[in-house]
Amino acid sequence: MSEVDVVVQGRCFVGGNLELCAIGISGGRIVRIAKTIDGDKVFDFGTKLVLPAAIDAHVHMREPGMTHKEDFASGSLAALHGGVTCVLDMPNTRPSTTTVSALKEKKGLASSRSLVDFGLFAGVQPGVDIAGLAIEAVGFKLYMGGTTGDLLAHPLGTVRREIEAVASTRKVLAVHAEDESLRNKGVEDSLDDHLKNRNNGCETSAVRKIIDAAAGCRLHICHVSAKETLPILSKAADVSSEVTPHHFLLDRTNRLGTYGKVNPPLRRREDRQAMFQALKEGAFDVIASDHAPHTADEKSEDFDYAPCGMPGVETMLPLLLHLVRDRHLALTSVVRRVCERPGEIYGLRKGRIEVGYDADLVVVDLMAGSEIKGDRLLTKCGWTAFEGMPAIFPRAVFVRGEQMMEGDSQVGESKGRDVVEGQPS
Ligand SMILES: [Zn+2]
Repeated sequence: MSEVDVVVQGRCFVGGNLELCAIGISGGRIVRIAKTIDGDKVFDFGTKLVLPAAIDAHVHMREPGMTHKEDFASGSLAALHGGVTCVLDMPNTRPSTTTVSALKEKKGLASSRSLVDFGLFAGVQPGVDIAGLAIEAVGFKLYMGGTTGDLLAHPLGTVRREIEAVASTRKVLAVHAEDESLRNKGVEDSLDDHLKNRNNGCETSAVRKIIDAAAGCRLHICHVSAKETLPILSKAADVSSEVTPHHFLLDRTNRLGTYGKVNPPLRRREDRQAMFQALKEGAFDVIASDHAPHTADEKSEDFDYAPCGMPGVETMLPLLLHLVRDRHLALTSVVRRVCERPGEIYGLRKGRIEVGYDADLVVVDLMAGSEIKGDRLLTKCGWTAFEGMPAIFPRAVFVRGEQMMEGDSQVGESKGRDVVEGQPS
């Protein structure tokens, strides 16, 4: 009898450092870390990096109701390809995840189809059962500006009671901060028009209002994009924040047309540069993709009609790893924002190579760079706004100790679990 079920060896990211060692796994958890461990099944990756797999704290898997764009099966396979083994799914599906029954229905779909672990957000609307939803949901999501699906933005005055109720659950309130009352509704023909309708002031106003209105909540500001938001956040010590790769790597000058139409919008180059600089200087708790796929057909509509959002769960970590290789970002800073902090904020036993944590791992060769190609991605929508950009895709991906991917190929069959049910009581 061996000490453990599975051993993964390599240059492992343990306690903030890379060291040649072995990770012992039993029952899907890390049970030992040592120079050598004897196991039933040993994966020796030599000097390749073994990192905690990424948690994508902001995705839209589109199921139920919009499964022509993506579903839990295709979206989770895309996640695995990009080194993401846990996704937190947003509530603007059809039906919206604003009732306990809708949340349970989505949980059933995800449990039977997702290849990665998942948590589900519940939507905040006037009159929803916050206490009931809190039992099932990983967190709450409030939209202050309009978006895809039927989950409408409500003025803060109409959800005060619900926000207070969220505060008493101690679950996170994640907010899409765009002030609907300041949004211009003019006809849009280009990314410039889209930006004019949702200018920087829409974001800063919404961020100020929600910080004020949600005192007492564990508040999290999603996808920060305007440079004027940065000083507001740096003064709000107990508010966590998130940035997406598209807001620090792309801007309106990338000429993406409808494919770059996303909310909050791709802004001016100076905003994009400010996001990247802030990230380098330690801002933002979380990098999340806001994976929001639409089909190429839908994106080919006239600008004004084309839906907002772009895919990203599959390209986030590969883009970040290339930035690490080129020394634009430190490995510790990336691991902090896509593994450790999302795990801490949402109370998951994930995101670290540490005894007691889920054995969610990615194996990476920093010398094996490639180019992002939409037709090689596994997301159902089949396109990417990051076409042609350099990236490093993981060599292997493990979910709770089981190898699920080898390069571009799925090699495991296990289904993902709800992270809320996985928590010890
Ligand atoms: Zn989103």
